[in-house]
Amino acid sequence: VIQLQNIEKNYYMGNQVIKVLKGISLSIQKNEYVALMGPSGSGKSTLMNILGCLDSPTSGHYILNGQDVSKMPDDKLADVRNKEIGFVFQQFNLLPRLTAAENVALPLIYAGVGKKERMERAIEALQKVGLGERSHHKSNELSGGQIQRVAIARAIVNNPSILLADEPTGNLDSKTSVEVMEIFGKIQEAGNTVVLVTHEEDIAHYAKRIIRLRDGLIESDNKQPDAHPAFI
Ligand code: ATP
Ligand code: MG
Repeated sequence: VIQLQNIEKNYYMGNQVIKVLKGISLSIQKNEYVALMGPSGSGKSTLMNILGCLDSPTSGHYILNGQDVSKMPDDKLADVRNKEIGFVFQQFNLLPRLTAAENVALPLIYAGVGKKERMERAIEALQKVGLGERSHHKSNELSGGQIQRVAIARAIVNNPSILLADEPTGNLDSKTSVEVMEIFGKIQEAGNTVVLVTHEEDIAHYAKRIIRLRDGLIESDNKQPDAHPAFI
């Protein structure tokens, strides 16, 4: 599903050029579960934003499901993003006054889905993350781990081909982090491609492949034969 060919990304600050990604090539197949690691500043979030069609590379090619999206204008890129990508962030960016189901249904409003179907699909997505019975709670009545599961439900409600998560467990305690990793494992086993960023080795070992970045380059890329099972 994902093919990166010699991706470079520069940021321009005044007349200063910051070279963040310096030639990243990799491919990720359908149904892989990948953890992206590396020191702070190595370019993980920059790469995730490119993978998620939130930003474009300075040079190189990004082929997503057979389509080269590297030079697409922003509006077309946004269409691809809405169709293909689910994104989970580190901060819990839910709307506190809305219920879990209403938060999960938000992307479907933009997709033009009618209200009744929106709610049905939102509740279905919440059931997949084990929160069906919390559908009508407001998000400020949920725990951190539950809120992050709502964010995952929101990211999968559109049936994206790829689920991306940038430090999804960064604000969670270790027990809750494991629960969240198991949810990602379940989603991957159901046929999705999952790519997530983490700083924590223990967490990364829930994924089946670990890619490490250093200074904007891939330092290592290993399959994990001993990955934790998705279910215990
Ligand atoms: P962390 O683990 O701390 O989240 P990261 O690996 O995700 O780090 P990035 O956020 O990709 O790192 O940042 C890589 C480098 O690019 C950093 O030096 C950062 O300061 C710089 N950078 C990131 N975004 C921008 C931007 N919008 N404009 C200018 N520089 C940026
Ligand atoms: Mg980051």
